[in-house]
Amino acid sequence: MNYIVLDLEWNQCPEGKEKEDSRIPFEIIEIGAVRFSFSSPAPSDSFCRLVKPSVYASLHHRTMEVISLRSQDLKNAEAFPVVVGQFLSWCQKEPLFCTWGPADLTELQRNMAYHGISIPFPFPFFYYDIQKIFSIVYEDRKTRRSLEYAVDFLKIKKEIPFHDALSDAYYTARIMERLTEEQILSNSSIDCFRTPERKKDEIYVTYATYSKYISRPFSSKQQAMKDRTVASTFCCRCGKSAPKKIRWFSAGSANYFCLSYCEAHGYLKGKIRLRQRRDGKFYAVKTQKLISPEEAYAIREKKEIQSLKRRLRKKFRP
Ligand SMILES: [Zn+2]
Repeated sequence: MNYIVLDLEWNQCPEGKEKEDSRIPFEIIEIGAVRFSFSSPAPSDSFCRLVKPSVYASLHHRTMEVISLRSQDLKNAEAFPVVVGQFLSWCQKEPLFCTWGPADLTELQRNMAYHGISIPFPFPFFYYDIQKIFSIVYEDRKTRRSLEYAVDFLKIKKEIPFHDALSDAYYTARIMERLTEEQILSNSSIDCFRTPERKKDEIYVTYATYSKYISRPFSSKQQAMKDRTVASTFCCRCGKSAPKKIRWFSAGSANYFCLSYCEAHGYLKGKIRLRQRRDGKFYAVKTQKLISPEEAYAIREKKEIQSLKRRLRKKFRP
């Protein structure tokens, strides 16, 4: 397996959000990566290049707070298309990307799209979010920790400074040494920079305790929620249709929940997040997870709180 542990540093518009180019809110200024193998965990092969910015010439104060780079360091670097080309050929065939958190591969592709570079990654684009897997294996599955927290937690020696693309990739690889290959491979993530365009491209993935579905685009959130496939519920263990005990109800403007029940495997919590694409359309990300009767009860309570809130709003509307 060709694991590539990737970390990027990026800059944002120094004059604030109003003046940013919405096609590229985060401009990559450094690509760092190490090649990782479970047979010889010590990272041997690495890639690290600075990128000469072409959109935001000076660094945002927040960027300078976290990284030690300064604008003059980037002046002699190569432009993004050159560096990303070097990076992709360094990756070699069939890289399995590992990152700390879900953002890096999305921003890498957004920068590639901005520069008119075609995306060479497979679809759906699976990757391994080591921050998420650290939480699944060592904590509560939900909390997301900083890289330095995880390094301290696992008592990994801090030999080099953080917030430099290569050292963050290196530390992420050191954390992977404390995981098994099975723990990593069974907890993949799906990058959503590109989402399904047609029904036949929709994504279904089944994990040990939950399933994930990513829909094609819809013109509005209402249209998405009306769709039979989006609204359907099934058991992630046996795949059979699971009748709803509580129908989809909204909690906030983009999140919906439901409760369904499989005769053989028990309660399932359904969650739909509606997300907006760059073209303004919406797509649904649905997860269905096996839960305990206590957690099922908590969904009933959540539903009641939501309807109570709605009644109160109606009553006191001016
Ligand atoms: Zn079942």
